[in-house]
Amino acid sequence: MCDNILQKLDDLETSLSSRLQQITQKLKDKYNSTSKQINKSDIKDISTIIQLITCEIATMKEVAVQNQLNDTNQQLMTELTNIISTNKTRQQPSFAQIVKNTDHLNQQIHQKQKGIEEKTIIISANDDQSPTNILIQTNNAIKHTRNENRPFKINKIIKSKNGAIIKLPPEEDIDQLIKDFKEFDQLNNIASIYQPTPLDPTVVLKAISKITNIKELPEIICNMNPQLNGCEKKMQVLFAIKSNTDVQDVVLRVCPKVYETIMQTGQIYTDIQVARVKDRVFIRQCQKCFQFDHSSNQCKNQISCITCGAKGDHNCTKITRCQNCSSHPKYKNNTDHLPNNKECPLYSDQIKKLIQKTCYTGLDHEIKIISRKSTSNGI
Ligand SMILES: [Zn+2]
Ligand SMILES: [Zn+2]
Ligand SMILES: [Zn+2]
Repeated sequence: MCDNILQKLDDLETSLSSRLQQITQKLKDKYNSTSKQINKSDIKDISTIIQLITCEIATMKEVAVQNQLNDTNQQLMTELTNIISTNKTRQQPSFAQIVKNTDHLNQQIHQKQKGIEEKTIIISANDDQSPTNILIQTNNAIKHTRNENRPFKINKIIKSKNGAIIKLPPEEDIDQLIKDFKEFDQLNNIASIYQPTPLDPTVVLKAISKITNIKELPEIICNMNPQLNGCEKKMQVLFAIKSNTDVQDVVLRVCPKVYETIMQTGQIYTDIQVARVKDRVFIRQCQKCFQFDHSSNQCKNQISCITCGAKGDHNCTKITRCQNCSSHPKYKNNTDHLPNNKECPLYSDQIKKLIQKTCYTGLDHEIKIISRKSTSNGI
């Protein structure tokens, strides 16, 4: 109990006993008086004292109740503090957990933003040329440039469907190299040599109310977020992810500059809410045969079972076996996963490649409207 409440009760007790003494004294005085008669004025005095006593008892009650409440509050406060501090300890992850929970996608994108990634030159065969010939001439062009002009480093040369892809360390002067290769006629006459145009990032706006008209989302976002004023054409709504609730995730393609602005806070205002923004990449994978780089409606392959990987009609073993990995020399002993999520190393590679092809910083341009039906999977 608080000290000042005790003091209050003490004071009230003293006051009460003095009042009772007043009454006793009055009666005693009357008894000793000659008339011994209680008159109107005596009754008035005594009733005033009793009224004061009643008031003081009420005050004591109030103080007592107050004290009880204080006690309860104190108890509640202690309990709350305990709960909060226990939760705090629970919520604070250990360093190991932080490392474990770090989103791989974010990590990869972040690395790319820091400019640690390689540079790419594409050498693509003209119509009548064989990709093998391109590869030979690419090697000749490299030798020639090194001998004639200057030395440079190459990380790797990859044989592609159309010719070759050259990967260079970030510090190499790619414009100069493309110029050098173009001066080597044996290659320039049979192929196009260029740096690939980077892709624009895709992001997902989480839990957007279905009241918000997603067709108007670029206008709404640019009006509601001052830092994005005038950027309506630098973002494009790709689609909303189906949902049975009153909210839906909406996928946007944005230019790198807009990406940087949005990701500084990781949230944007719509007409009626604040929405979180997350990185998302969309891998092009056929949902019929589960191979990459084509969609189901372009698929000429047999239907594959997503679980066991068998083709066509079959008695499913229900044992998970990734068909893509089972026919891959490096991964054929690790097939215990589905082909369409990041557990699959080949699917993971696709994510890495897509991130490599995407630019996440600096470039400021309008989004070219790409009409491609998305049959792909998001991660
Ligand atoms: Zn297919
Ligand atoms: Zn099956
Ligand atoms: Zn796999």
